[in-house]
Amino acid sequence: MGTICSAECKCGYKTKELFLGGGRMNFLTKCNFPYFCKKCNELFIGNTYDKKIICSECNSEDVIAYNKKEMVSPFDTNIEIRSETISFPNKLKLTNQEYFCPKCHKYQLKFSFIGMCD
Ligand SMILES: [Zn+2]
Ligand SMILES: [Zn+2]
Repeated sequence: MGTICSAECKCGYKTKELFLGGGRMNFLTKCNFPYFCKKCNELFIGNTYDKKIICSECNSEDVIAYNKKEMVSPFDTNIEIRSETISFPNKLKLTNQEYFCPKCHKYQLKFSFIGMCD
């Protein structure tokens, strides 16, 4: 089952619907996850099962997954309020913490769950 979510920042940046995870037919080969491209400052969706993740916008390999520590707010020390919002295979997950915004470069991007898809 895949997950539909979106991300929104206080600066006004908002993603379109992001289709994450994999479908019923391709869950062994496909697990979509949000990545940040350092070159073009875009959030894009990559397949974590790919050997090499490249930016869908500019083909750069200088990308970082949104489960990396540096993508989560270092100021968010209130562990109690963290909850796992969306989980994936391979221990990937997104939580309700504040993440690095690709546009304003502040830690105020939030992922929200919209629904499930096949
Ligand atoms: Zn890029
Ligand atoms: Zn922002």
